[in-house]
Amino acid sequence: MMNERLLEIENLKKWFPVDTAGFFSKEKSYVKAVDDISFYIEKGETLGLVGESGCGKSTAGRVILRLLEASEGRIVIENEDIRALSSRELKKRRKNMQIVFQDPYASLNPRLKVGQILEEPMSIHLSLSKKERKERVKQIMNDVGLNQSYLDRYPHEFSGGQRQRIGIARALAANPKLIVMDEPVSALDVSVQAQVLNLIQDLQEKYDLTYLFITHNLSVVKHISNRIAVMYLGKIVEIADRDEFFHSPKHPYSKALLSAIPEPDPKQRKERIILKGDIPSPVDPPDGCRFHTRCPYVMDTCRTKTPDLKVTNKNHFVACHLEKTVEEIN
Ligand code: SF4
Repeated sequence: MMNERLLEIENLKKWFPVDTAGFFSKEKSYVKAVDDISFYIEKGETLGLVGESGCGKSTAGRVILRLLEASEGRIVIENEDIRALSSRELKKRRKNMQIVFQDPYASLNPRLKVGQILEEPMSIHLSLSKKERKERVKQIMNDVGLNQSYLDRYPHEFSGGQRQRIGIARALAANPKLIVMDEPVSALDVSVQAQVLNLIQDLQEKYDLTYLFITHNLSVVKHISNRIAVMYLGKIVEIADRDEFFHSPKHPYSKALLSAIPEPDPKQRKERIILKGDIPSPVDPPDGCRFHTRCPYVMDTCRTKTPDLKVTNKNHFVACHLEKTVEEIN
C-alpha cells in the first residue's frame, strides 16, 4: 500500500536571468539553478537531497517553500498547489512549512531575546493567548534541550550548537508539517553534529514531521534519510531508498560520490573514482546528459540526448542511458 504523500513537485524549474546581452545581441541568458526536477516526500519521511555545492539543492528547497518563486512547475503540499495561492493564502499556509538554515546566527534576529524569537511565529500563525504562548515556548525549549533560564538571552550569548537548537525551535514554534533542513549541521563542530542530528530525528518522531534534508555530506544523509535524491547541475540524477542507494548506487555520479566516503575497515575499502574537471557552469550547461563532460562511461548518445529519470527497479530511479527500465529488463 502506498503511503500518503505530503509533498509532490513536478517539473520544477528555477532559472535566474543574467545580463550577458552585448551590443549586437539581445539574447538573455539564464542560470538554470533548478531545471525540471520531480520528486515526492511521504508523510513522516526524510528525503535527503545531496550534491556538490552549486548543484541547485538549496535553491530547490527555497523554491519549494516559495521563499523564491519558481519559473515553472507544480508544488503540491497536501493536495494543494501552493504556486496557485495568493500571497494572503500563502501566509496562512506558511505555518505548515518552515526552514532551518545552515548558519543559525545569520538567521536569528540579534536584537531579540530567545523567548521573543520563539513567540514571534506563534503570534503570526497560531491563535493562542499570551499565557498559552509562554507555555508553548517553554515546552519547545524543553523539546530542543535548552534550559528555560536562557529565554532572556540574546543569540550571541550561545554556542553554535545551541544557536542551531534555537533555529530548530523557531521552525517548530508554528507547529509545521514540513521542514526544509538546509545543511543544518554543516556549520557545527563535528562533536555536536551527532547531537543535533539525533535531536532532529527525535523531534520528527514526536511531532510526526516530514523533512527535506539538504546536505553535501553523504555520511549525514546516510544517518538521517529514508530515501536519497542526488542532484547534479540542476537535475535529479538518482533517487533510491537509503540502503539500496548505499549498497547499489547506479548513476556514475553517485558512484563517484560514494567512492569518496572514507571507509575505516581496510577490507571494505573501495577504489576511489576521481572525476575529471569541475562542474560546468549552470549558465551554459552541457547538452545531452549534464554529467557527460566528467563521466568515465560517456557514449556518443550522452552528448546529445538528455536521459530521463526512469524507474529501474522498485523505487529506484536513475537518469542514465546505461540503465534499463523495469519493462526493458523483463
Ligand atoms: Fe554517463 Fe552517459 Fe550515463 Fe550520463 S547518460 S551518466 S554521460 S553514461
